[in-house]
Order: sequence, then C-alpha cells, then structure tokens
Amino acid sequence: MNYVSTRGGAFAVDGGRPARFLDILLEGLAPDGGLAMPDHYPRIDATTLEAWRYLSYGELAFEVIRPFATDIPLADLRGIVMKTYTAEVFGSHEITPLTSLAAYAPELRLLDLSSGPTLAFKDLAMQLLGNLFEYALARKGQPLNIVGATSGDTGSAAEYAMHGKKGVQVFMLSPRGRMSAFQTAQMFSLDDPHIHNLAIDGVFDDCQDIVKAVSADAAFKRDHAIGTVNSINWARVVAQVVYYFRGYFMATGSNDERVSFTVPSGNFGNICAGHIARMMGLPIDRLVCATNENDVLDEFFRTGVYRVRGAAETHATSSPSMDISKASNFERFVFDLVGRDADELKRLWQQIDRDGRFDLSQSPLFAQIQERYGFVSGQCSHAERIGTIRAVHDETGIVIDPHTAVAVKVARDFEMPRIPMVVLETAKPAKFNETIREALGREADMPPGFEDLLERPCTSTELPADVAAVKGYILAHV
Ligand SMILES: *Cc1c(COP(=O)(O)O)cnc(C)c1O
Repeated sequence: MNYVSTRGGAFAVDGGRPARFLDILLEGLAPDGGLAMPDHYPRIDATTLEAWRYLSYGELAFEVIRPFATDIPLADLRGIVMKTYTAEVFGSHEITPLTSLAAYAPELRLLDLSSGPTLAFKDLAMQLLGNLFEYALARKGQPLNIVGATSGDTGSAAEYAMHGKKGVQVFMLSPRGRMSAFQTAQMFSLDDPHIHNLAIDGVFDDCQDIVKAVSADAAFKRDHAIGTVNSINWARVVAQVVYYFRGYFMATGSNDERVSFTVPSGNFGNICAGHIARMMGLPIDRLVCATNENDVLDEFFRTGVYRVRGAAETHATSSPSMDISKASNFERFVFDLVGRDADELKRLWQQIDRDGRFDLSQSPLFAQIQERYGFVSGQCSHAERIGTIRAVHDETGIVIDPHTAVAVKVARDFEMPRIPMVVLETAKPAKFNETIREALGREADMPPGFEDLLERPCTSTELPADVAAVKGYILAHV
C-alpha cells in the first residue's frame, strides 16, 4: 500500500519511491502540510466479511490492518498486533464488549472502547502505536522524541503506551487547568524521566498549533528525531477501524444486516475510522457525528459550511476531550468527498486560511455527504448530558461518561427500527467525576487499580503558549 498527501498527490521518500506505512508511522503530516492517506481502500468482499465474523479481536485487527501495512512482514505484524490486544491490557478477551441499552432505547448498544490502561478509547490505537514504534525504532536503531498535544485523553494514552519503551521520550502539551482531576493526576503522576508533562497557558488548539509549528520546522525535527502521536497519526486511525468491524459483528447475527454508529467527535479521528470501515465495505447505515457545544462539525454536516473557531470561541465544557474547534482529521474525509482531487482540497484549505471557513452548501457534494457517505450529525448541551447520564442510569443502572452521553443523546434522534445503533463509549465515568456527581449526586466507582490515583504525587512544567518556549524546553532535554 502506498500513501499520498491530501494536498498534492503522491509523496515520495528517499530515492523517490512512494511512502509506505512505516515511512509515515512517525508522521501523519506530509511534507506539503497535507495528511497521509492510503492511495486506495481495500474492499472487503462478502466471503471475507463472513470469515472475519468469527475471529478474535487480535486476529481481526491483524486482518484489518494488514492491507494498510504491506511493508511489515506478516509474521512481525501478527506478533505486534497479538501482543497489543490482550485481556491483560484491555480487561477482557472481548477487548471491546458490547452492552444493550434496550431498557433505555430499543436499538441502542454501547460499545465499550474504554477498558484500556487509561480508561479512554485512545488506548486501543495508542497501545498498538507504542508497540509499532518500538518495532520500527529497533529496526532503524534510532531514538524518537514524541511531541504531542492533548486535551486530556490522548496525552495519558500516549504516555502509558510509550512508558518504558526503549529509546522513546515524550513531550506532552496540555492546556493548563482544563483537564479533569483524574486526567491531570493520571498524566502528571507518571514517574518516568522520559515523560515530560508541559502545562501550557492556553486552550487545546494552542497546544495543537505549537505541535504543528514544531513539526513544520524540518531542520529541528530532523536534528532531534521529533515524531508525533496526535490524532492525525495514520496508524492510530487504522487501529480504530478494527472496532467498527468488531462492533458490527457483535451487534448483528448475519452480514445481511446494517448497523449505524454514533461517535462523540472532536478531532474527527474516531469517526474518520468509521468512514474508512464503510469505504472498505462494512455495511454501515448511518455514521452519526455527535458534538458538544463546540459544534464546528455538526454545523458542517447540517449546513455545508465549515467554519473553524479561534481559541476565544472554544467553550470549556463538561466533555473536555471534545472541546476542539479545528478538527484535524476532517481533511481526510473532505479529501474523499472531493473525489480525491488534491487541488480542490488545497483550494478549500486556502479558503480556511484566508476566511476561516469554506462553504459547500451550494455544491452538489453537499447532498453526497449524507446520501453517499452516510453522515448525519447532532449536538448536545451540558444540561442534556446531565439529563442523559441520569436517564441512562435510571433505566439501565449503567453509568456513562459525559462524552458518551453526548453520543447517546444524539443517537436517539437517528434511531431506526431494527437497525442497531451502536454508540461508542469513549471513556469511563470515573475520569469525569465532577460531572457524574452533578448528574447522580454521587461519584462513579473508581475502577480497580485506580483507587489511590488522586493522592499520587504530581509533577509538570508550566510554559506559555509559545513555540520558542516549547522548543527551548525540548532542546534542553533531548
Ligand atoms: C478524544 C476523545 C473524543 C474525541 O475523539 P476524536 O477522535 O478527536 O473525534 C471523544 N471522547 C473521548 C473520551 C476522547 O478522549
């Protein structure tokens, strides 16, 4: 499989051959500022889909990932994948168990993506990435300095995935004071000299802009072996494709059935994987994009206008991992939407740079978003999250986290008779106990192993939202 850039067609590596999976593993961003995309989607035929129904999670992950990573010898890839998706790491052999919410709404199912080490769905991709990095670096005999931005969950998932991996250091930027107590403690208590928590005076988008600026400095990047793990990382997106297949098989009895998914969205990474699964031929009916008050994506899917917001317009909400106003993976979907016309895509992104927006409302593409690609959307306010957490708990006894609550609320608007609506559970409620207390008058139970988390000693380094300050810190520590 070769990879192309969303902004300019093929991108080549040394010697001029097209980039492959291992070339873009530490990247995501193409030299021209676009995002890496496979040059085609493998199509899964009916026989293959039937065979995949009976595989374990690890075996399924191997089959799904393998056509995208043709430059890794099969036995190596199988080893990496099988050691990643174990009951020890993810709490059960199912890895992503499915629970019915029929007592609350007849077709709703909850796909548990949050039983990994940091209790958020990002572990599913990040744990794989940790093992892939270790493999790739050992082959090249090189170190790696990861620079990332997090609104809470990416950072801890990355740190716990890279913790103890040989040759890897992590510099993780987070918006100071904007993460939950649990998220903060989970990251800042990790006692490892190779993990650097940088608390930035700003919002998540400031952190992300700094990481982009550091990555854009080719010389700095090369001289200090800088890589990223943020949500534009292609390997993360591919790893997430797996659980759409898994969720589909668990929610259905045969491959004649269709399933819809509702995904609580911020950077569009999770639901982008759903789009890819659908393009590969998985019988997905609707892909429902659910946002909180930061509704850039919902606005686009409803109106055709994509208008990014500045930091000042970004609301700090009770679903903080979705407080994002520039959805970095969205470019991947738009690339497909414009028929993979890189010039057209470039034109749209130049409009964003110039006007802060582009408008497809008058384009024939607008109708395709729903009719051809299955996307619909909705949003959810704080009061609706509280009400949803309470109602789901009352009807089922299950406590859901505020991000999942966004999806459950929006999913109800698109529920159709006899089409399972799989809601992705992206975090465990104990991560966001401030909100659970408001909804239920008590806290969610701390999962086993996390009881003393909030008492652990924490360290972080405070820095201004300034590229030079962050580069200076990195220079002093590589
Ligand atoms: C990251 C995150 C999201 C948003 O996922 P995207 O891939 O950025 O759309 C939603 N919920 C939780 C709990 C998260 O950590």
